[in-house]
This record gives sequence, C-alpha cells and structure tokens, in this order.
Amino acid sequence: MTLQITWYGTACFIAHLDGSNILFDPFFLRNENAQPIITTQPEEIDAIDAIFITHAHFDHITEAGFFAEKLNVPVYCSSTAKENIIRWMDGEIIEDHKEAFSKRAKQNIKTINYEDSIKIGSDLEIHPIKSCHISFDAKTILSRLFSWSFLKQVKTISKYGRGFPQGKVFGYKLLYKDLSLITFGSLCTKYIQNLDQYKGCDVLLIPYAGNSTKHMVKKTIELIEVLKPKILIPHHWDNFFPPLSREEDLNPLKEEIKQNYPDITLIILPFEDKTPII
Ligand SMILES: [Zn+2]
Repeated sequence: MTLQITWYGTACFIAHLDGSNILFDPFFLRNENAQPIITTQPEEIDAIDAIFITHAHFDHITEAGFFAEKLNVPVYCSSTAKENIIRWMDGEIIEDHKEAFSKRAKQNIKTINYEDSIKIGSDLEIHPIKSCHISFDAKTILSRLFSWSFLKQVKTISKYGRGFPQGKVFGYKLLYKDLSLITFGSLCTKYIQNLDQYKGCDVLLIPYAGNSTKHMVKKTIELIEVLKPKILIPHHWDNFFPPLSREEDLNPLKEEIKQNYPDITLIILPFEDKTPII
C-alpha cells in the first residue's frame, strides 16, 4: 500500500493511493504575480476518481466545474460551494470567465454534510469533518489592506471576495485500508474537542495561511496535540494570489517540531511532483 501526494500550491493536491486518485480543492487560477508559477494545466490532469472541497472560497474551487465537465467525476462539497461553482462556470461572478457547463456536469456536483461517508471503490472511504474558517487577525488584514498593490486591484479582488461566500467548512478524513489521512482547508481549532476520535492519524495536512506566523504555529500545535499525527504536511503556505496572499515562513514551525515533537516527520512538499509519503 502506498500514498503519494502531488501538490499544486494552496490546498490543491492529489492523494494517490495505489490505483485511486483523489483531488482536493482544485485551484489553478493563480494570478500573474503568484509564486511559484504552477506549470501544470488543468487539461493535463486526468485519472481522477473524485474531488472533495473544503469550502467555497475561490482559491478552493475554481476548476471544480471544469473537472466535473471534462473528467465526468463527482465533486463533493457544501451547498454554497455548489452554487459558487455553477455561478463561476456560468460567468455570473466574473463576466470574462464563462465555460460550457452541461446538465450532466452539474449533476456531478454533490452536496454533502458532516455525518456523511463517501465510498470510492472498495477500499477507500472519506468522511467530512466539521471545521471552520480562520478569522484573519488584525496584523494580517492591515498588512494586506495598506499595500499599494492591494489598493490598485481592489475592484477585482473584491469580486473574488464577495463572489464566493464560504459556506460550510469541511475537513476530511480519508481512510484507505489501514491508512488514515486528515486534511483541512483552513486552519481552524474551534471544534478541536470533536477531533479526539481521529487521534493517531498517519498523515495530517494543515493549511498554513491566514494569520500571523506566531498564531499559525500555535494553532498547528493545538491540532497536533490532539491528532498526534505520524507525518505532518503544511500546505497553502505559497504566495498563490498576491496581494491577498504571501509566502509564509515555515522556519518557526520547523524549529518547533524539531524541538518539541521529534517523533513527528515534517514533510515540506515540492510543487507539482508526485512525492512518496508512505
Ligand atoms: Zn478560505
């Protein structure tokens, strides 16, 4: 049994489990100042079995409709995410963006809830986890708002902000044979008391973005204290849509894990490379 992960920046990655490929939070839209430049085109991605979406913000869903159409695969998400995907494909959020979206593709977008469990093939099961969205702290908001590049692009940026209400936020637990993987789309610790049941997971992916470095280290520690993962992988730390994003400094997290959690393997994924995890 093997797990490999291909990461495309943000919370967008494919978990390759032997023959099955599960795509999370499809987002290839990155703007022209994004770093790094992701060279993979959505058209090059195939052999996906299912897509799961953590929440309905633009940086988690923009290519979901495209894959539902082209690959004819199910996309599991909240009802708000479903609405956003349809409005995005129909060009209702940004006029320039409009793509053919058939009735069949719309039917591939499936609304889920916390108590659901989705089976893919005979060995793979995925459970949504109740989660929330990080609230941006004052320092993060101020540093973005008062940048010149933000003011220049405020009109476009507000379309992405207002056009994609977040809806329900899911984490996911993926169970494949003996292996458990947990991923979140936003760094939330609000429902941490519910996470005890997932203690001892093999792999934990955390979105390392949206707050000051100090707070992100603190929240990550809270999560690993409860979940006790064997492997920790930060994602979403890349500069995917400046000035809304920045590249996050991973060094304080690396130091914290090295000092206080030597049993946890911290993996910093390369971009766009299929990386063996287990
Ligand atoms: Zn978000």
